[in-house]
Amino acid sequence: MIIVLFGKPGAGKGTQAPLLAAALGVPTLSTGDELRAAIRAGTALGLEAKGYMDRGDLVPDAVIMGIIKQALSEPRAAGGVLLDGVVRTIPQAEGLAEVCAQLGRTVDAVLCFEIDDDEIVRRLGSRTVCERCQTPYTGREAGTPCDKGDGVLVRRKDDEPAAVRNRLEVYERQTAPVLNWYREHGTKVAKIDAVGSVQDVTARALGALAA
Ligand code: AMP
Repeated sequence: MIIVLFGKPGAGKGTQAPLLAAALGVPTLSTGDELRAAIRAGTALGLEAKGYMDRGDLVPDAVIMGIIKQALSEPRAAGGVLLDGVVRTIPQAEGLAEVCAQLGRTVDAVLCFEIDDDEIVRRLGSRTVCERCQTPYTGREAGTPCDKGDGVLVRRKDDEPAAVRNRLEVYERQTAPVLNWYREHGTKVAKIDAVGSVQDVTARALGALAA
């Protein structure tokens, strides 16, 4: 089972991914988390990605495809994987389809979390994330402890207003057309109302997958 979690930045993909993964019994792959880990570790991948990410631009497709290929060929992904933050461009959709074909697998569904821009600006303006495990929080001060371990909450640089505006523009220009690509290629696309309690949104997403 390969499921793509889709939607604007701040739509709640990162919040829903671990909950849906636990319910479905599959691991998650968040390219954003992988890239932030590479930046913290100071690797060549991190150095290449940092400038793009701080501005809110997309990291080049070739870099993302490298992460996807490696993650999908790991044994832990054999039973399926929830992709959080991939696919973000049509070349990534094409690349993922090619990797899936090589592995004898397919993308089963795209869940598109829907939310309007005012709510996104509000959410990201008050979002902090754990510097260690990346768990996102809304309305929690930077510097306070994470509930899930001994990490501390920080603000993401790309959650500052100028980067958020750019990320929303990038989404419209480069990412939104991917939904039609999936429809045209016969993949199920389900729209999920992403406004409401975390539990309600999880239930809607699971309901859409079961339908
Ligand atoms: P996210 O944590 O999903 O909001 O991603 C944060 C940033 O990481 C994005 O704004 C991009 O700069 C980069 N990124 C994450 N996933 C991708 C992807 N699939 N394609 C290109 N850039 C990505």
